[in-house]
Amino acid sequence: MSDYFADTSASLVSVAKSFHARGWLLGTSGNLSVVVQLDPLRLAMSPSGIDKGELTADQLLSIDEDARVVSEHNAKPSDESLLHIRIVRERGAGAVLHTHSVWNTIISDLYASEGGVTIQGYEMLKGLQGVRTHDHAEWLPIIENSQDMPALADVIGKTLNEHKAAHGFLILRHGLYSWGDTLAQAKRHIEILEFLLETLGRMLFIKQNRMQL
Ligand SMILES: [Zn+2]
Repeated sequence: MSDYFADTSASLVSVAKSFHARGWLLGTSGNLSVVVQLDPLRLAMSPSGIDKGELTADQLLSIDEDARVVSEHNAKPSDESLLHIRIVRERGAGAVLHTHSVWNTIISDLYASEGGVTIQGYEMLKGLQGVRTHDHAEWLPIIENSQDMPALADVIGKTLNEHKAAHGFLILRHGLYSWGDTLAQAKRHIEILEFLLETLGRMLFIKQNRMQL
């Protein structure tokens, strides 16, 4: 294992533990990846079925562009590896992160019939790459969930092409995906989007309660 792969794996574990501590990767949910080489493509990828609070650096797998394990591990990569690879291809991302939080699950359900959710007017939006003002309208597409990963990867590819400015997307009653040029940027995007989704959800709840008073 190269020093770079080892360092990248250690950074991924640190992100996994901080997200797990915030309730965004409970149990074995969610997955994380970083591009460690472009040609041929190699990703450091979280393994399937591992509690993200217990993840260790030596468990991170090296996978190729078809999500096959190329490192000497007797383990399966995350079921959603093909989705990470598609996002890397479509967005030129250096890292892809996927969380299963309570609020992203609720919001994906609430706005499903609209095909996505717009978040606008919040200062925290400025944490998204290229966003300069709180007035920015961030459209997060919502995609139907599926266990057919190649088909879901194709839907994601199409959605990312239709919404070039999107910093992330939701999968219905499932979770949030975001990415970045680097792991640090991808982590920031997840933190910003999770904050905004929770704010939106809590605001809706408070407004509803006020109307009933
Ligand atoms: Zn998932």
